[in-house]
Amino acid sequence: MDIQQIWQKIAKTLEEQMPQESFDLWIKPIQPVELTEKKFTVTVPNKFFSDWVNQHQKANIEKLLSENLDRKVSLNFNFLQDLEAILKTTKENIEPVPEEEIKTILEQEFNPKYIFDTFIESHSNRFAKATCLAAANNPGKQYNPIFIYGGVGLGKTHLLNATGNEIRQNNKQAKLLYVTAERFVNEFIDSLTHNMSALFQNKFRNLDCLLIDDIQFLINKTSSQESFFYTFNELFDHRKQIIITSDRPPKELSNIEERLISRFEWGIIADVKPPDLETRIAILRRKAEGERLFVPDDVILYLASQIKTNVRKMEGSLIRIVAFSALTGTPLTIDTAKEILSDIIRREEIAKPITIERIQKIVAKHFHIDIKDMRSKKRTDEIALPRQVAMYLSRTLTETSTIAIGEDFGGKDHTTVLHACNKIKTLMTSDPFFNANINKIIQEIKSE
Ligand code: ADP
Ligand code: MG
Repeated sequence: MDIQQIWQKIAKTLEEQMPQESFDLWIKPIQPVELTEKKFTVTVPNKFFSDWVNQHQKANIEKLLSENLDRKVSLNFNFLQDLEAILKTTKENIEPVPEEEIKTILEQEFNPKYIFDTFIESHSNRFAKATCLAAANNPGKQYNPIFIYGGVGLGKTHLLNATGNEIRQNNKQAKLLYVTAERFVNEFIDSLTHNMSALFQNKFRNLDCLLIDDIQFLINKTSSQESFFYTFNELFDHRKQIIITSDRPPKELSNIEERLISRFEWGIIADVKPPDLETRIAILRRKAEGERLFVPDDVILYLASQIKTNVRKMEGSLIRIVAFSALTGTPLTIDTAKEILSDIIRREEIAKPITIERIQKIVAKHFHIDIKDMRSKKRTDEIALPRQVAMYLSRTLTETSTIAIGEDFGGKDHTTVLHACNKIKTLMTSDPFFNANINKIIQEIKSE
């Protein structure tokens, strides 16, 4: 078999193992170039690709290689483009931003409903709102960068759009861009695969204000982080406003480069917490008025007291009951609301705090072992791994100390718990299938 045939065979196996999209994106562009006694060298477009392959498929590909060749060979990469060089290109030597790009940035519309006036302030979000408002009135000068974090549905996207709307109102020529981190990553990948990195850089580095939503999406995306790092520095150095949102504080953005995190920490960090009852009532009243809906006070109170942790869910419920009563002609009462929302509210009621016992139960079920084994002294492989997974999840999903976790797992030492956590973390980064499994377990633990 020649090297092309070998690669085709391996690629075919990979295609069967991987989701088609990932295969098309990451594996298809790989070209085999050389096979020696110990090395199999391939060309990939740039380091971005090799990072991904190294992280997700290297071990697998090497395994397939040795199966096909009956000897151990390691996978090596050549690059078509030098990513460092691309990323470091300065503004001076890249072509000017095309007119249309500037136009789209100048015309970018923010959600008109998301303005500061419609954002209800309370002690749970006052600081976040105040910093955004200050930044909107004095972009890049006072508070930069601003990092806002908090749970889902608590108004982070609302605040970013409000800032965009306000700056636009003050200055029609301001180059503002709202983008989710996910979109940033996709555009970055696109620019690399289509050789348009200059355009990409121009777009992001010539802004007056960058509003980037849900930055946690950059976790594990090394090259995108790098690109973002350069973008960030370029904007920051030119005193352009940057506002970032995240579902967790900077320190907890695990697997995001330390230097990026410390940049986030240079500025202002503000959190948004779930609003208290009065605020929830005010938000619902405002929403009903805004949509010109008539909703009796007791129904508003009922909703606000039942749904506590997510404003989006609360608003969604309001719309649902109003629509139901309008469509069916049923009067809008607490009883109607109860009935329509029974599923949502039941889930909200039973959202109990996560306990180690619940984690042990779900992990045991997932790995088909007995929950008793979680707390036993047995050391067989079938039990050791699930137990380590459960220890890791207890550490990350509850506030329990490693010492107390050790006790709940049959009196293990806290170093055993630490070791388990490190091992699982490593496995999660090196094996995407394992990672997916763990995420599934986490979902289950959180939703029970
Ligand atoms: P996040 O981005 O934090 O997940 P969003 O900004 O998308 O949350 O907010 C979800 C919904 O809740 C939006 O419709 C938003 O307008 C509304 N909302 C959240 N917090 C407030 C608030 N303090 N005042 C008014 N509306 C709010
Ligand atoms: Mg959001």
